Amino acid sequence: MANSSSSRVSADMKNLQRNRINGLRQVVRVMAMKKKVFLTRTLHAFALEHLKKKYQVEVHSGKIPIPQTKLKDKIKEVDGLICFPYDKINKETIEFAENLKVISTYSVGFDHIDTEFSRRKKIRVGYTPEVLTEATANMAFSLLLDISRRVTEGDRIIRDGKWKEIYGAFDYVGVDLKDKTIGILGLGRIGEMLARRAKAFDMKITYHSRRRVSKTKEKILKATYVSFEELISQSDFISVHVPHTQETDKMFDMDVFRKMKSSAYLINTSRGKVIDEEDLIRALKKKTISGAGLDVFEIEPIKKNHPLIKLPNVVLAPHIGSSTEETRKKMAEIAVKNLDLGINGRKPVYSVGY
Ligand code: NAP
Repeated sequence: MANSSSSRVSADMKNLQRNRINGLRQVVRVMAMKKKVFLTRTLHAFALEHLKKKYQVEVHSGKIPIPQTKLKDKIKEVDGLICFPYDKINKETIEFAENLKVISTYSVGFDHIDTEFSRRKKIRVGYTPEVLTEATANMAFSLLLDISRRVTEGDRIIRDGKWKEIYGAFDYVGVDLKDKTIGILGLGRIGEMLARRAKAFDMKITYHSRRRVSKTKEKILKATYVSFEELISQSDFISVHVPHTQETDKMFDMDVFRKMKSSAYLINTSRGKVIDEEDLIRALKKKTISGAGLDVFEIEPIKKNHPLIKLPNVVLAPHIGSSTEETRKKMAEIAVKNLDLGINGRKPVYSVGY
């Protein structure tokens, strides 16, 4: 009797063990069937949860940006990649891809991705325009207001205990915006949104891009099309909203700064490489131009001893154009949607090329 009950127990144990092993095998099989996704940096919990339901997800948690060797290793094995604007997704890296179907970048700029080579390898590229337009235009206008009224400079003066004089006729004077000319380089999504803000401040709006926008849009925005030469020589404020491409690389150099008004301010929220930073530093030091508001730099983050930090006539922001809670969530939603579509052989919601 005792024997038969103990053999029943051991049979039950064996069954239990077998079921467990089968269960584990099933999990392993499902995992093996699940496509692999790699993120070079973490995203919001809702985005990760969504991804984890469908894919085997790995998030890089070490050094930012991810070392290129690790990126190459991961690209070799995954089906989908979510990356950020500082990741170098160049030809040499993409060449490692064996199963990669989609590169989904958490940004509207895609100058960090070799999109031409991706297309040749039939890897789709998704990006996140539109949702960040207002936030970035607000950032550009914040920099413009700040530099024109010396807000950050005043903050520094107070914090450094250097506020000596009070309310003099010539103390810490800035400039008005009303009737000043703003030259918008690149009247695309963000440029247009900036024009609307400038219009509300009664500024004269001029713009330059390779193509003119429609007459209706020009009328609504009260924007006048000018040549690049006219834009740089006539503007009191220039705000840069072109993507970084071969054509726009170092578009602003000493030649351009010399043609600008010495009272003019330069605002850049596009990409650092559109400006020759060394020349800009020289122009600011020599007062060839009055000042600059910068959210982007040639190499980011800039170092503690970067020459721009020592200049009083610049306002610096750490590449936070799109950085509002609402916008960053929307960007995560789109980055995930783009990945979802691309990994399944479909065109991302916002797709570069195809
Ligand atoms: P967009 O809608 O594509 O607008 C780009 C504009 O630039 C278009 O009007 C385009 O017009 C013009 N353009 C392109 N190449 C040009 C050239 N060689 N000369 C003159 N104009 C040129 O892009 P967006 O959404 O406004 O974004 C603009 C850029 O802002 C992005 O590429 C990104 O680098 C940057 N950005 C930065 C942040 C941040 O956090 N700081 C956030 C978002 C975006 P044509 O094609 O007619 O020339």
